[in-house]
Order: sequence, then C-alpha cells, then structure tokens
Amino acid sequence: MNSVPKKAIIAGNWKMYKTIQEATDFLQTLIPNIQPSSNEVLLAVPYTIIQTAVELTKDTPILIGAQNMNDASEGAFTGEVAAKMLLEIGAKFVILGHSERRHIFQESDAFIHKKVLRAFVDNIQPILCIGEKWDERQAGKTDEVLKNQLLADLADLKPENIDQLIIAYEPIWAIGSDKAATPEIVQEVHRHIRDILTESWGQHAAENARILYGGSVKVDNASTLLQQPDIDGLLIGGASLTPETFSKIVNMQINKTE
Ligand code: PEP
Repeated sequence: MNSVPKKAIIAGNWKMYKTIQEATDFLQTLIPNIQPSSNEVLLAVPYTIIQTAVELTKDTPILIGAQNMNDASEGAFTGEVAAKMLLEIGAKFVILGHSERRHIFQESDAFIHKKVLRAFVDNIQPILCIGEKWDERQAGKTDEVLKNQLLADLADLKPENIDQLIIAYEPIWAIGSDKAATPEIVQEVHRHIRDILTESWGQHAAENARILYGGSVKVDNASTLLQQPDIDGLLIGGASLTPETFSKIVNMQINKTE
C-alpha cells in the first residue's frame, strides 16, 4: 500500500458575514498564502460579494459559490435567487440544505430535493448538507435520520449525478459549538453515508461522491479529520473568516493510504 498525498476539498461558509471591502481585504491576504500544493479551495460567500470575489480570484485555485438558491428557474418569488443568476456572475457551486436554512428558515426535505434537482438541470455544483440533532444522536437515531434526509433530498437522481455530488455531513450539535465530532464518529458516519449511496446508486457513484465534514473545524483538529479514509474534505464556518486560519487548513498536506 502506498501513502500518497490526496487533495481534499476545503470549503468555507461565510454565512452572513463580510462586506465587499472586508472580502477584498480577506482575499488579498489569502491568495498569496495559498501554496501550489494546496487542497481544493471553495468559498461560499454572501450573494453581494460573489461578483467581486470571482474577479479577485481569477487565475487562482479558489472557486466562489453561494450559500442558497431557489428551485425555480425564475418567477415571482420576492427575495429569491435562481441558479442561472448565480452562474451568470461566476458562482461555481451552491450550498443546499444547510442546517441554518432547515431550522431557522424551515426548509423541508421536499424543498431541498427540488433545489438539488434544479442544480443538476442548470449545471451548478451542489453541496448538500445533512446532519442530526443532539437528541437524535442521543436516541441512537443518527443513521436513520441521515438515511431519511439522503433518500428524500436525492430522490430521482441518477448514478451519474451522485458521481458528481458533494455531501457535507454537519451534525447540528457541532456547528458553531466548539464541540467538533471526533474523527472516529465522523469516519463511521461517512462510511454509513457511502453505504446508503451504494445501496441506491451503486458502488462506483458512491465512491466518487465527495463527503465533507463540517462542525467546529479548527486548525487544531482539521488534519486528524482529513486523515480518515472517508473524509474527503471539510466545510468550515467560523475558521474560514480569517485568512490566517483558513490558509493553514487549505495548505495542509494529508497522507492517506490508498
Ligand atoms: C457551518 O456553518 O457550516 C459550520 C460548519 O460552521 P462552524 O465551522 O463555525 O461550526
């Protein structure tokens, strides 16, 4: 068996933080600190920043995306944004079903499912977030909750869609709590997610889907998480807001056994 460096996906989620000026300052510090051997870098920024961030990251490995979108192609939906509008300003991916959308804004699996379908129709890379609440974990229901979310959110997709999919496992109790799930817990859950994908869409698609972990990832715990065989990357909230911490995680070299 050979130990080879494998590129992970390091995705930042800025939530409702940063003005255009703050984002510009951030990127001007981050970009020169990204090493050629860095992991894949994604930044999900507020809508208002996408265009500026896309321009500033031209000719860099950083991909800019959004944190949400509507499922319709266009229409009378005040305050909503469509996939084609995001693509027009250079967004390459979109986070769907983040727990803050599910719980604060009451987004259902049925709605998230329609958004996932829209993402594939309109050709914008989706990052689908799933995760259990603390009481669900305590009641031994984690596997069941995640299976239900996956089967509802991914219904009607074909193996070639799953092949391209990025899933972020974000236990709700770990988000913004400073209580990250242990690498052992995350590995076990990611294996379970891959088994569910295999059952419904086959092994090839399940192995190609990228499964990220999110929830209180910091410089100190990122490397151990990334070493787990089924953790393909990280979705990072708080620690993605400062270029000093984010660049350290982006540049981490991980040796995984193939
Ligand atoms: C998130 O919002 O997706 C997240 C994982 O946040 P944090 O890293 O701050 O826990």
